[in-house]
Amino acid sequence: ERPHLEHTYAKDIPQMSVRWSAERSPSPSLVVLNDRLSRDLGLDPDFLRSPDGLALLTGWADDDEPATYAQAYAGHQFGQFVPQLGDGRALLVGEVLDRQGTRRDLHLKGSGRTPFSRGGDGKAPLGPMLREYLVGEAMHALGIPTTRGLAVVATGERIQRQQPDAEPAAILTRVASSHLRVGTFQFAAVHRTTEVKRAVADHAIRRHWPEAAEAENPSLELLRSVMRSQAELVARWMLVGFVHGVMNTDNMTISGETIDYGPCAFVDTFTRNALFSSIDRGGRYAFRNQPAAALWNLSRFAEALIDLIDDDADTAVDAATTVLEEFEPTYDAALARGMAAKLGVDLAGAPDDAVREYRAFVETTFDLLETSGLDFTLFFRAVTEDRLPDVVQGDDAAAWVAERERLARAWAPDGAADPQLMARTNPVYIPRNHHLERALRAAEDGDLGEFTRLLGAVRAPFEPDERFAGLEGPGSSSSFVTFCGT
Ligand code: AMP
Ligand code: MG
Ligand code: MG
Repeated sequence: ERPHLEHTYAKDIPQMSVRWSAERSPSPSLVVLNDRLSRDLGLDPDFLRSPDGLALLTGWADDDEPATYAQAYAGHQFGQFVPQLGDGRALLVGEVLDRQGTRRDLHLKGSGRTPFSRGGDGKAPLGPMLREYLVGEAMHALGIPTTRGLAVVATGERIQRQQPDAEPAAILTRVASSHLRVGTFQFAAVHRTTEVKRAVADHAIRRHWPEAAEAENPSLELLRSVMRSQAELVARWMLVGFVHGVMNTDNMTISGETIDYGPCAFVDTFTRNALFSSIDRGGRYAFRNQPAAALWNLSRFAEALIDLIDDDADTAVDAATTVLEEFEPTYDAALARGMAAKLGVDLAGAPDDAVREYRAFVETTFDLLETSGLDFTLFFRAVTEDRLPDVVQGDDAAAWVAERERLARAWAPDGAADPQLMARTNPVYIPRNHHLERALRAAEDGDLGEFTRLLGAVRAPFEPDERFAGLEGPGSSSSFVTFCGT
């Protein structure tokens, strides 16, 4: 039956969204449905496949006046402040409580123009929506906090993008623990009263960081919670070679989930400069710059919160600065612990010296990958399977091996790397650019075979499986570019 949808966002802070209806899709058809996620949300997949389900997934669950909302937000895009962005091609359908009791948003991307569309058509092409769906599933399977796709529905229209021919249009139903962004607070700071901004902060605390409500200074604790979750998130990205590509403040969540899979990609042949976006000419969001970009965004978040932190501006700035100064050590520790795990060493309970040494070894490892031109994922898998000489030999590799062994002797609980820890930490399958692009081209022509195969591989990324033969390596080594604004 039809699910019960709640609207706490629209009701708690009515000043932060506009009630708005989706454009009618001429002939909607389901392309993919996430059965597992659907059940986790307490939604019956058979309902979602029914005509009423399809209506929900295109924004028309209630016939006459659907209660769907376009959310307002601002944002720094590539360093430039844009005071009004907002859901230009998206709508919040409502919230459900999942099986764990967590409130999750259902959100449509590609549902047509809204008051925030500016020059855009409000539409989304099928390829990029399937890409977001698949990469989200890959991230989730890798244990990285992320928004996820519940379904992709082709609307029956065709739209014009970069390709010479028109492409099929689609709507992705995105599930997120909320769509609160740094840019949401920036919008409130610029366009709304302090009371509204406080209501946004209260909503964020209630939803994501309830412990912060008990703190002496809840707004400062909110900043600290978001800082920590983002430092840990970006460390997780770095440890799988993920490049987000468009870390604008409107694409940074308050929940700590990865959001907005536009020009993202996983690096294959490693370079710290890895970047796949066609529009980021300065390399602002290159692999190496991601932690700095996150901290820059958190500084904008702190600015938006400043009068909530303290009435006295100097006091507020001092307090916020202290929190922001915790970013680097938090990130470094997360990165070091994650790298140690990739090398089979659990640093839980290890002293600071261990963390410091592994933090330094991250750079040693990246140096080896870079100078030897190694594939990021294949390298760590070779280490896991004890066949490093298959992928790299020579003095640099020998020195790396010696240091790795010294660190394991010094810091591993029983003095040696744990192969099982490595096997569940270093993926075999990631969504590699060339495999993904090929799968998407075929899907646009109506053949979902390769998409389904790749989805199967990335959903069980740590288990080598002969059904996925060929997907563990790069499809081709030529350079690869993704496009924004799709
Ligand atoms: P993004 O680069 O995906 O984070 O989007 C940045 C802004 O552009 C957001 O406000 C989007 O809603 C808006 N936007 C992106 N594509 C479109 C489109 N086709 N039509 C209208 N607005 C869009
Ligand atoms: Mg965005
Ligand atoms: Mg986007």
